[in-house]
Amino acid sequence: MDTVPKMRRNPAWQRDELILALDLYFRHHPAKINKDHPEVQRVSEILNSLPIHPDRPDPEKFRNPNGVYMKLGNYLAVDPSYHGVGLTRGGRLEQVIWDEFACDPEHLRRIAEAIFLGYQTDQAHIRAEEDEQVFPEGKILYRIHRVYERNQKLVNLAKEHAKDTMGNLVCDVCTFDFAQRYGKVGEGFIECHHTVPVSELGSTRSSRLEDVALVCANCHRILHRKRPWLGLSDLQELIISPNEERL
Ligand SMILES: [Zn+2]
Ligand SMILES: [Zn+2]
Repeated sequence: MDTVPKMRRNPAWQRDELILALDLYFRHHPAKINKDHPEVQRVSEILNSLPIHPDRPDPEKFRNPNGVYMKLGNYLAVDPSYHGVGLTRGGRLEQVIWDEFACDPEHLRRIAEAIFLGYQTDQAHIRAEEDEQVFPEGKILYRIHRVYERNQKLVNLAKEHAKDTMGNLVCDVCTFDFAQRYGKVGEGFIECHHTVPVSELGSTRSSRLEDVALVCANCHRILHRKRPWLGLSDLQELIISPNEERL
């Protein structure tokens, strides 16, 4: 019996890619352009350069201009202001991205620009982590976020500051105290979370002490899943209200 070689499909679009496509959708409505438009070509080139899909079974078709233009059509299908028919919906994630970002195209523009600037830096190529799948701004900006909060100088500064002002290191969200819970081995341990989205930092602003929260590992993981982003003053509210009020 002959075995027909199975054609493997290219990986599904991820958050970063769908953010860039939605940004393109708002800048150039698909009814007014086609796949040969220079911006469609440009987004296709950027998507081909992003370091998030090492495995591309069909490189010819991978995020080619036609695919990018089709993605705009998928967004047309989830756009409530569009009343046409005949377009197929894309995956579930298109709807999620639409719901999160369509209300503020300018905010979306800043994130898209930050991804565009960020993927060209070394920081975008650090080892992938599980959390980047759910990070609000996508994988590239997650990796850059992690680089900021691993900045040892800033981490030490934040810890020293906390010890000076509060006497010990406790989680800014839930007040968990590693030393109290684990004794000697927990002393001096706490994680740093950068509270300013990478897309808001701009190129001139470097990491500052007031942009850093000290958090326990649990709260940190949850913060990375939270949309929209939380400021320092919002952190506390995450846990003080009873569960049912938070749904
Ligand atoms: Zn905590
Ligand atoms: Zn963080």
